[in-house]
Amino acid sequence: MQPSFPSAHEAPALVPHQGRFSLLTEDGELLSLSAAEVRERLHAMPCPLVVHAPALARKLDLPPTGQPSPWLDLLELFTFVYPARPVAPTPRGLALALGLDEQNIDRAEADLLPNLLSILLGELARQARSGQIELLAAFTVRLGQAGWIWTGTVAETIDLHSRLTNNGRLAEEATQPADALRVWRHLPKWEESAQRPPPASHPISPAEARERLVNILGSDAEVRSGQADFASVSTEAFAPRTMRGDPAIVLAEAGTGTGKTLGYIAPASLWAERNDGAVWLSTYTRHLQRQIEQETKRLYPDPTTHRQKVVLRKGRENYLCLLNMEEAVNSAASRPAGITIALCMLARWALATADGDLFGGDLPGWFGDLFGHGNLAGVADRRGECIHGACAHYQRCFVEHSIRRAHDAALVIANHALVMTQAAYAQAGMSDDDEAGEQGNIPTRYVFDEGHHLADAADSAFSAELSGLETAELRRWLLGAEGRRSRARGLKRRLDDLVVGHPKLENPLDAALLAATALPAPGWSTRLAPEAANTPPPPEPMELNTLFPPEPPADQPIMENPTEAFLRLLRQQAMARAAEGGKQSIHTAMECDLHPLVPDMAEAGQQLARALSRIVEPLRTLSERLQARLEEDADTLDTTTRGRIEAMTRALRRRAISRLDAWITMLAALDQPPEPGSTPAHIHFIRLERRDKQRMNEQDVGLYRHWLDPTIPFAGIMAMPAQGMLMTSATLRDQQGGGTESDEAETAWEAAEARTGANHFPSPALRASLASPFDYARQTRAFIVTDVDNSSLVDLSAAFRTLFQSSGGGGLGLFTAISRLRGVYDRIAPTLEEEGLPIYAQHVDAMDNNTLVDIFRTEEHACLLGTDAMRDGVDVPGNALRLVVFERVPWPRPDILHRERRIHLSGGDPKGFDDRIARLRLRQAFGRLIRRQSDRGVFVLLDRRTPTRLLSAFPNGVAVERCGLAQTARQITAFLAEQAGQN
Ligand code: SF4
Repeated sequence: MQPSFPSAHEAPALVPHQGRFSLLTEDGELLSLSAAEVRERLHAMPCPLVVHAPALARKLDLPPTGQPSPWLDLLELFTFVYPARPVAPTPRGLALALGLDEQNIDRAEADLLPNLLSILLGELARQARSGQIELLAAFTVRLGQAGWIWTGTVAETIDLHSRLTNNGRLAEEATQPADALRVWRHLPKWEESAQRPPPASHPISPAEARERLVNILGSDAEVRSGQADFASVSTEAFAPRTMRGDPAIVLAEAGTGTGKTLGYIAPASLWAERNDGAVWLSTYTRHLQRQIEQETKRLYPDPTTHRQKVVLRKGRENYLCLLNMEEAVNSAASRPAGITIALCMLARWALATADGDLFGGDLPGWFGDLFGHGNLAGVADRRGECIHGACAHYQRCFVEHSIRRAHDAALVIANHALVMTQAAYAQAGMSDDDEAGEQGNIPTRYVFDEGHHLADAADSAFSAELSGLETAELRRWLLGAEGRRSRARGLKRRLDDLVVGHPKLENPLDAALLAATALPAPGWSTRLAPEAANTPPPPEPMELNTLFPPEPPADQPIMENPTEAFLRLLRQQAMARAAEGGKQSIHTAMECDLHPLVPDMAEAGQQLARALSRIVEPLRTLSERLQARLEEDADTLDTTTRGRIEAMTRALRRRAISRLDAWITMLAALDQPPEPGSTPAHIHFIRLERRDKQRMNEQDVGLYRHWLDPTIPFAGIMAMPAQGMLMTSATLRDQQGGGTESDEAETAWEAAEARTGANHFPSPALRASLASPFDYARQTRAFIVTDVDNSSLVDLSAAFRTLFQSSGGGGLGLFTAISRLRGVYDRIAPTLEEEGLPIYAQHVDAMDNNTLVDIFRTEEHACLLGTDAMRDGVDVPGNALRLVVFERVPWPRPDILHRERRIHLSGGDPKGFDDRIARLRLRQAFGRLIRRQSDRGVFVLLDRRTPTRLLSAFPNGVAVERCGLAQTARQITAFLAEQAGQN
């Protein structure tokens, strides 16, 4: 262990405070300093206690802190002490999580931090006394070797020195530091159980659903009539199916505040219990999945029963892969010390987590900010290299465990993307889940919450992309690291013992791997521009592969390959045709239609199609022969090998064969330009853009194929397995205004059916609408500001500042462009922070959306700027959200996809199509304001050109006033003051 680490007991403390910085000096003096003054002092003072060092460094205009951090970040200590407890990463958030009194928190500045330190160290000492000392000591020694700055204080607290031998090591019989990191040895094994028989089909009655709801809410609670009606009508989605391929569908709009989550949990749980089956509850985002999970705790308050009955499922890429963790641990000694610190924290968490979910579960969302996002991605099951039954950790694997737990659950909480891919894979016989193809394990009842997002989810799930990143990823999956230092294993190594000695299997595998060199070689993106075609590959960026950075590239000439040649032509066409409005930059995505093709594209496409066929055909043969081995060697294959063969054939089909088939089909479209006047099933286009996984100066280019109407394939995959579906949302229908009431209502329902895909099933959906119980006319105000030029960043910034000041914070600013969001943030942050209104922003603060929302929810006077994701996913009840400001009308993005859809899906009314989308987005944004009866809020649109026809987006009774900025600000202050007086 390093000899000296600073003691946190005497440390100064530093927090941002009202646009300046509050410093508690080591002498106990509380100072308010500017950023420059803090920077000046930092050199001379001991390292301070802070909260979220990377965010503080950014505010101080200092370089990122990295690991080992130079500051005593209390969040790091919190992670060590409470490894699986998310918390808002601010002094206030930490203080609330540690049980401090609200009033003390409000008054406190930097002097709050020593209190937090005492509480955390008190808990750590308690853990050391209560039987955890072995592991704590082992982790502390390992962290000390890596230079973790908290080592000295933690060692003192757990009295580590009394456990060390004379040579400074832990006694031989004690848990050693290296063992502590090998968490897979300490985790419990799951056990196989008999397969669950298929569920029965007993119906449930509306009266029973209402009664179940009362039981969940408790006899003392007031049952809202809308909620009871919702539970009642939802039972129709659980009626026995009368015709194959014709599920019962209920389309239910339930206004905000209806309580629809418990409203559907009541009939769903009743049906699951009565029929010994599972109901899948699906929502749009991972964060919303956790919200539903919280609600199910009211149904099953006992934690053991809850764990048995409710399982949250996500895609495999979200979970910790123990094999990846093992490989990371084994190589950590030769890697930077920060990686060891991250792995120690992950190991602590792995021993405490409920389900191993790295993203949005019980690992704090800010973990990656502190310990490296690359380290998190490195241990997730992201590369599709799972070796299933051949993995030594298979029976402790978090992914496999969650799949098995779901087999026996009553409620499985999933997301739309997972449900769609699972259903599609099950239909094609290539599911992730060993038993999904078995009759008992195919889900038959679904609840789709956030149903207005079904089309978006289906659009992503059923689109295809032939791009540089996708094709290069397939090459890596097939060929592995190709001589570079990386864990990428390649197909040969993964199949190894299954094929060796079987020429019938080895030969097609070798042929496919030889042909796979036609996919882009490392460094492809630097050769996208024709002039750079023969440039050797540069090193990959550290963040992509922090755990295992590649070796320097070999200095070899790069052979032309058909994929790279095709990508270069795509880029050429995009550069030539894209409408860039004179603003072309590396950060701007460029799109163009596929047809007409630039010269040579057709031929390059044919060559590529032939090259891809040379990969896919032997892979298909390999997959079929592996499958045949299952039958031929049925009497000799052991269970593990059988399981592996099944898993590998599924992986081959999912990861390679189906993708290659899709690409070959897309290339065939090169020869099929769309017929003028016809309605295409698919839209093909080219896009050139910089993607997340790329360096700053690189771009990816791809040919994209989307369904014109993505709800068609959605209906196609759900029609057979689903026996009943409830599709619900607070905003299913558009309210146009004008027209006769019945015409309008019918049109709105038809549009809702088209948006959810309900119109593609044989029988019509049962429609239901439950009004919000909120009195919007009393609880809200809405304004359109008429004297702000929102195309001017200066005016827009001034407007946001004035409005946030008028509400005293608690404002959510919504933007349609990231550049404007950043511009406004830069201009208004200093003033607002000076006035005690902390401001956070998506795409500015290096935190994920859920963390930002957690902070916003915790800091009552904070403001938050965000884009689409904030519009749809923010659930902030109470005073923390009292103002929503939209910079402009959220019209749909005018891209090629939208152009085609408004032509072909608008029923001849493209303008009305745009209006509908904008109105629904406004309704969604408005819905963020009022989450419970006591909430009050104001909605402001900074777009003076807002057409009156869009105003029907707002709930009945909300009068929308058009007035100037100053008057709007005065009215906001008066309204919120009046409401505060009444509450
Ligand atoms: S079974 Fe697969 S996902 Fe699970 S630990 Fe092993 S390799 Fe990772």
